[in-house]
Amino acid sequence: MCTTLIALVLFATSPLLAQDAAPRFDWAKSQPHWAAPTEPFNIIGNLYYVGTEGLAVYLITGEGGHVLIDGGLAGHEQNIINNIAALGFDIKDVKYLFNTHAHFDHSGGLAALKEASGAELWASEGDVSALEGGFYLGHEDKAEFAAPPVKVDHVMRESDPGFNGAIVSLTGDKPGKPFLKAELTPGHSGGCTSFRLFIDDESEHLEVLIFCSATVSANRLVISEQGPPQYDGIVDDYRHTFEKTVDWTPDIFLANHPEAFGLKEARARQLAGERRAFINRGVFQKYIVEKRNAFEAALAEQEAAAGE
Ligand SMILES: [Zn+2]
Repeated sequence: MCTTLIALVLFATSPLLAQDAAPRFDWAKSQPHWAAPTEPFNIIGNLYYVGTEGLAVYLITGEGGHVLIDGGLAGHEQNIINNIAALGFDIKDVKYLFNTHAHFDHSGGLAALKEASGAELWASEGDVSALEGGFYLGHEDKAEFAAPPVKVDHVMRESDPGFNGAIVSLTGDKPGKPFLKAELTPGHSGGCTSFRLFIDDESEHLEVLIFCSATVSANRLVISEQGPPQYDGIVDDYRHTFEKTVDWTPDIFLANHPEAFGLKEARARQLAGERRAFINRGVFQKYIVEKRNAFEAALAEQEAAAGE
């Protein structure tokens, strides 16, 4: 009887056993660049790239504690931890964890990184259920889209006075720059969040944008044989995001997929000696117009298919 009890307790509390029972889809095999380690580097000021070859993770260092944006793929968190250490920083000094959106390729590593750092996870309301439940909202049945569940410590709501404002002062209690501003840019996920960072570089005031995403990818936009829309209000959310961002003019546009802003090319120029290689004024405006057009085309296609 005693043995049975112990076995039951072990089964109930061991995440390893649960994982063994239902192994996750191996994205590292189908998308090897998502898991491939790459050297970390400074982008500009106190902003660093600590992700893998194919999935961006950003470290912003500050006297008040560091910020980490995104967690990459589950099971590959050690790459990020190693990169932070290689730059001379300590994962334990990361005080805030943010997530661009609750999809496994950007949120999968958050649980392990939260544990390694002891940081608080901040997320937008629309992504909380997916982060805490470990699923892709609207694709709850797809095991390959699952991620380790992670507890959100601070829910950001658009009605919060601090939401679309300076939410994290990177200088701790001391007033002044730099600071990080979260902006809700929903559609790709219900809580898709972008980040604006203001950096003074050689007496110039530079604005960095880490954009969430505005692609349609696996999202259902309308009711069809495939099911209801990904989530209620998804079409309005995309359109709201396109309207909101159309006049954004960042000096440096970055995203969670490196190919979206030409990381490889910029990094090569940086290695060749160009100090401000990541300045790419005008690229975001072109990008967002392309994404808006692609969204409207995908919507028309899905509507036509649903009406057949
Ligand atoms: Zn996504």
